[in-house]
Amino acid sequence: MRVGTIIEGGREVVAVQRDGAWFPVRGPRRSVLDLLAGAPPDTDSEPLANHQRPAVPFRPVRNIMCLGKNYRAHAVEFAAYRAEAESVPEYPIVFTKAPESLCGAEDDIAVRREVGAALDYEAELGVVIGRDTVAVSVGDALSRVAGYTVVNDVTARDVQERHRQWFLGKSLPRATPIGPAIVTPDEFGDLDDLRITCHVNGELRQSGRLGDMIFGVAETIAIISNVVPLQRGDIISMGTPSGVGIGFTPPRFLEDGDTVECAIEGIGELHNVVRFVDSGGMDEP
Ligand code: MG
Repeated sequence: MRVGTIIEGGREVVAVQRDGAWFPVRGPRRSVLDLLAGAPPDTDSEPLANHQRPAVPFRPVRNIMCLGKNYRAHAVEFAAYRAEAESVPEYPIVFTKAPESLCGAEDDIAVRREVGAALDYEAELGVVIGRDTVAVSVGDALSRVAGYTVVNDVTARDVQERHRQWFLGKSLPRATPIGPAIVTPDEFGDLDDLRITCHVNGELRQSGRLGDMIFGVAETIAIISNVVPLQRGDIISMGTPSGVGIGFTPPRFLEDGDTVECAIEGIGELHNVVRFVDSGGMDEP
């Protein structure tokens, strides 16, 4: 099952994706998380004809948890940029980004010019936790997954560097695309075999297998939940393969007007355009 939230006629509609089309769920409004936990819901027989774009599938209550340097080649390229010897982590590096950083799978990545000077892309697997989880074993951890999605962990590298902690550089408002759907594990085969890619303006920049992750999904859930209880609706973004902009010499950061496409086969694709703007999600209410 593939469940998402679609903007149709200015309102948000929870819908199931089949063969690329979105079918609105019938009956009383239920959350995407509720739908993922149950049997496939009744939907209209006709797909949404005039949908504008996918919204964020659901809004997490808490910060999104993210893994840093979770692919060997990316850990090496990141260390090279910082002229560090240490590269591959012995334990998962876990940081968070604000829920307000999320945007839809086809939204513009609208960033204030002042923080867009070193803007970078990171194609990642997103894991949605389906129920509250405390100290789960590796063997049981996958039973806590409600579904998977695609995340572009967009990062302001200069902000990330200068503040030491990564939270600010990872939390630009409405600049982290996610979706378009949350996909239940029965929709695809072995997770390890799935290819993850990122194209910028049609050029392949990142390409890896999910099996290349240093810490897999089950191990990550077990490790985190043995320290911090996970809650239903938490999202864990699993880190990115090599090929990010900062890994090039000189770095190839995102520019105004660039198209960024992050995809995981069998799960989904993000298609976003970078816009340097004056306010960038920073409008006061
Ligand atoms: Mg990342």
